[in-house]
Amino acid sequence: MASIALKSFIGLRQTTSENKSIVLTKPNTLTYHKIRINASKTSPRVNGRNLKVAVVGGGPAGGAAAETLAKGGIETILFERKLDNCKPCGGAIPLCMVGEFDLPLDIIDRRVTKMKMISPSNVAVDIGQTLKPHEYIGMVRREVLDAYLRDRAATAGATVINGLFLKMDLPKSTGSSYVLHYSDYNAKTGGAGEKKTVEVDAVIGADGANSRVAKNINAGEYEYAIAFQERIKISDDKMKYYENLAEMYVGDDVSPDFYGWVFPKCDHVAVGTGTVTHKGDIKKLQIATRLRARDKIEGGKIIRVEAHPIPEHPRPRRVLDRVALVGDAAGYVTKCSGEGIYFAAKSGRMCAEAIVEGSENGKRMVDESDLRKYLEKWDKIYWPTYKVLDVLQKVFYRSNPAREAFVEMCADEYVQKMTFDSYLYKRVVPGNPLDDLKLAVNTIGSLVRANALRREMEKLSV
Ligand SMILES: Cc1cc2nc3c(=O)[nH]c(=O)nc-3n(C[C@H](O)[C@H](O)[C@H](O)COP(=O)(O)OP(=O)(O)OC[C@H]3O[C@@H](n4cnc5c(N)ncnc54)[C@H](O)[C@@H]3O)c2cc1C
Repeated sequence: MASIALKSFIGLRQTTSENKSIVLTKPNTLTYHKIRINASKTSPRVNGRNLKVAVVGGGPAGGAAAETLAKGGIETILFERKLDNCKPCGGAIPLCMVGEFDLPLDIIDRRVTKMKMISPSNVAVDIGQTLKPHEYIGMVRREVLDAYLRDRAATAGATVINGLFLKMDLPKSTGSSYVLHYSDYNAKTGGAGEKKTVEVDAVIGADGANSRVAKNINAGEYEYAIAFQERIKISDDKMKYYENLAEMYVGDDVSPDFYGWVFPKCDHVAVGTGTVTHKGDIKKLQIATRLRARDKIEGGKIIRVEAHPIPEHPRPRRVLDRVALVGDAAGYVTKCSGEGIYFAAKSGRMCAEAIVEGSENGKRMVDESDLRKYLEKWDKIYWPTYKVLDVLQKVFYRSNPAREAFVEMCADEYVQKMTFDSYLYKRVVPGNPLDDLKLAVNTIGSLVRANALRREMEKLSV
């Protein structure tokens, strides 16, 4: 969520998929292939059946992928190891996801219209004043959202298997099948699951940060943050304060490189923090986050404790032959904000669309060139966002004075408008050049003050 206050500041004008004018330079974390393979047009027909695709993982990425495949005429199998999985997650989603994925409003616990950004010295800046009456950040419980998307995939025709994917055998010759090995919990044998195999033409790895599909194709590793979260049940009185309000805390105490949060849920709040650089200190950082919010959550009961890795950047390899990675398995969480739900669902859908298109609605075999179309489209639209948030994290999360400057900037109405637009809609509308200039001057002012303050603090600590 911290991302929202920053994109406009450095003048980034993110494009929508319709706007083709964006120029990309080669990102160093992504694998780019110069050779374009043009095989899909001549790829063989699949006779007597439709193309068969396995989606491994039933989170937002897998659910969205499976639904799109099934609707597009592909024989789809969706594997989820735990159908009541409660993914550790803040559950904040942008408004555009509600519309783009046609989400019913009753799966959204809270509509957040106010956000407090709280600096290391506890200066709180209210953001959200620029929101229009219909605009909000959605707060969902993942067990609800994920189940909803999976059920919709099943309604569209996907076969959902309650199974743990174990490994797959890669094809021995061009066009031959992938053999997936899994434990089937549908046919439970004393809780252990029955070992089974299934043959498919292509595989989408949507199995999250610890992806086994990624390991199977030697996709390589990524740096990751560890995020820790406690769900805390607080009194109805205290809950009123968080009714439509989320809080973000920045400071060395809560995280040296990320932020702490209090997000409202249906009948509790989710309090958490994350770090890449100080993973061993995560519990200490969590205690500090709780301490910062103590007046507002006092007397609360911890009802659930959860932790999970958050990828920091895309994997070195995201497509190999007829296997593609999406969502966290691919590494699509934005730095600085830790936002990944929308990007997971979006990448799942985009990858599935490439398969539907390449296979002419399941009538032809696909190959790597079809899957690469998803990658090309993805990188073209989203790579600038990831890069900018990477830079901003380095600028603003590096010290407490820089964080004070960051919070100060968030008070600017223009920053709020531009950044809410970019977060809620995943696009930035053209800004006003005069306001852009004023913002740049204010930002430089904030950073100069931050640096001056840091120098004074360094002198004091000598
Ligand atoms: C503490 C925390 C807070 C966060 N807060 C936010 C937030 O507020 N907003 C936001 O946008 N993002 C947030 N994120 C990031 C977000 O949770 C992820 O980016 C998102 O869940 C990625 O979705 P996915 O479908 O790719 O993977 P996942 O949600 O991880 O789903 C993977 C699915 O695959 C299943 N699976 C895994 N392995 C197998 C296997 N071998 N066989 C079968 N099934 C398998 C899992 O059970 C799971 O259901 C947060 C992350 C953390 C850790």
